[in-house]
Amino acid sequence: MTNSLQSKVKFEFSAGGIVFKKENNQIFILVSQHSQHHGWVFPKGLIGDKEEFKHQTKEETAIREVKEETGADGEILEALDPVQYWYIFEGVKIKKTVYYFLMKYVGGDITKHDFEMENVEWVPMDKVEEKLTYKSDKQVWGKALQRI
Ligand code: ATP
Repeated sequence: MTNSLQSKVKFEFSAGGIVFKKENNQIFILVSQHSQHHGWVFPKGLIGDKEEFKHQTKEETAIREVKEETGADGEILEALDPVQYWYIFEGVKIKKTVYYFLMKYVGGDITKHDFEMENVEWVPMDKVEEKLTYKSDKQVWGKALQRI
């Protein structure tokens, strides 16, 4: 007899950045809207999934993904507590861990990003929490806020 209750679980690991800049005595954070699920999130991507970047560290992945998804160049200042969440894709339960890094904006053009984000915005620091879609992102943002 097959056990239909036996569930499949997969683990995924991503890396990304909480990027900030200071302008006219105000601090802004890079927040983007995901093209598929439409949530407002920090830029990130899977570690080691593309053949070309298979050997990249989580730090290298975070910097590359921030650049690809937002057009911005970030310089890592420190690692933040990893974020974890579950989701289901094609019947498979996925537990995802995301390693976020606090990054200083050092250049780049946020109009030049790939298709993975449908909107990329500099959000004033006091509006970030309400802009973010997911609870776990709000939590890591709370930690980042104390470090900026
Ligand atoms: P990656 O950017 O790591 O390559 P992805 O863009 O393929 O990943 P996710 O952003 O992880 O995918 O989204 C996969 C699912 O998880 C979607 O259904 C999304 O709504 C949900 N999701 C995304 N971020 C969170 C979060 N912080 N907490 C809970 N659910 C989330």
